[in-house]
Amino acid sequence: METIAVVGAGFSGAVIARQLAEHGYRVKVVDARPHLAGNCHTERDDKTGVMVHRYGPHIFHTDNEKVWDYLNQFTEFMPFTNRVKTTSGGKVFSLPVNLLTINQFFGKTFSPTEAREFIETQADLSIENPQTFEEQALRFVGKDLYEAFFKGYTEKQWGCSPTQLPASILKRLPVRFNYDDNYFFHKYQGMPKEGYTAIVEKILDHPAISVSLNTQFKRSDTGNYDHVFYSGPVDAYFDHQYGRLGYRTLDFEEIRADGDYQGCAVMNYGDATVPYTRITEHRYFSPWEEHTKTICFAEYSRECGPDDIPYYPIRLTEEQAMLSQYVELAREEPGVSFVGRLGTYRYLDMDVTIAEAMEAADRFLSLQRDEAKI
Ligand code: FAD
Ligand code: UDP
Repeated sequence: METIAVVGAGFSGAVIARQLAEHGYRVKVVDARPHLAGNCHTERDDKTGVMVHRYGPHIFHTDNEKVWDYLNQFTEFMPFTNRVKTTSGGKVFSLPVNLLTINQFFGKTFSPTEAREFIETQADLSIENPQTFEEQALRFVGKDLYEAFFKGYTEKQWGCSPTQLPASILKRLPVRFNYDDNYFFHKYQGMPKEGYTAIVEKILDHPAISVSLNTQFKRSDTGNYDHVFYSGPVDAYFDHQYGRLGYRTLDFEEIRADGDYQGCAVMNYGDATVPYTRITEHRYFSPWEEHTKTICFAEYSRECGPDDIPYYPIRLTEEQAMLSQYVELAREEPGVSFVGRLGTYRYLDMDVTIAEAMEAADRFLSLQRDEAKI
């Protein structure tokens, strides 16, 4: 029986391990951290009993039927709709930008059609094909909303001017001319009843899978296995030989209180003068549970140093050039597949991560079948 190593016990690693185990492979999963589920790790806070998302808030949302059905084998999803608020200029508004936001912000009582026409008068229509974040914002919501909700937040989040960032980052957010304040527009959305770590535990619960936590995998370990799926950072695998790919990291400041702290799960802060980007109150991620005390985290974004946890890949021009060099090395590395958000240096939502992990396992299995035929 062939032995496969899977590096990383996040969703990428777990899904691949399970698919291969079900096809008769023996799989060893290693993770440098002391817990499962990678950046989606959840655990109960011992003082409040609240299920805490250790590496920032994670809301599951997808249009992918296959991924939704797959995960539902391992968890019950509780209904959850992400409704985000933002504080800007001393007032609270609804996000994503919707009819309530527009009416509150401009002190109006617009109908959907009137709001659409009004925003057209705010928008910079001379920008025909927005390339940067700022151009996208000026084109679709205009200067006032951009400066209140996006400019300061984005400068804090990314540590650079929105003129340097691609339009695609803002395209993740809708602008709505009705009162729908659902942050996402996917068919399925929910929160796993027992958190994300419980899902990964179940995915990995298979007799052909063994898991070693607190175990750092190095390139020199590759030869011990018939194949390796590596979901760690691609630049670290190659000893940063072309330099370090840029990431933003996050610091979380813990806030504890009795009762309710902010009245919602996520409060963003649009002003550049507030040093954090958002505060998340985690008991609101499991509204079906009752808690008397609360725990929140204020999120600060900064440049990722060598000993920090990488969160958001930056992917500016400089990183793109370095990335192509690593992609070339990765392509030539025998017996290793680079997967997941760190292995491919892309921001991936959980559903995309899972879909791509399924595809990586399928690709490997079909190649093996083809080789067996020769
Ligand atoms: P990871 O979860 O990072 O797992 C990789 C694992 O590999 C880690 O556990 C790491 O310790 C291990 N590892 C790395 N190198 C080595 C090595 N050399 N040896 C051993 N182990 C190693 N997605 C959503 O769908 N909804 C959300 O609301 C959402 N919120 C997010 C919020 C934040 C702040 C961020 C940053 C991301 C969010 N995401 C969200 C995306 C989600 O976190 C990713 O989709 C998911 O974590 C990707 O899983 P992965 O397995 O590829 O990577
Ligand atoms: N953003 C913003 N203000 C907000 C929320 C988001 O300027 O109140 C910007 C920010 O640059 C962010 C991007 O829009 O990176 C995409 O938002 P999303 O909520 O998807 O952020 P992420 O999940 O990346 O934290």
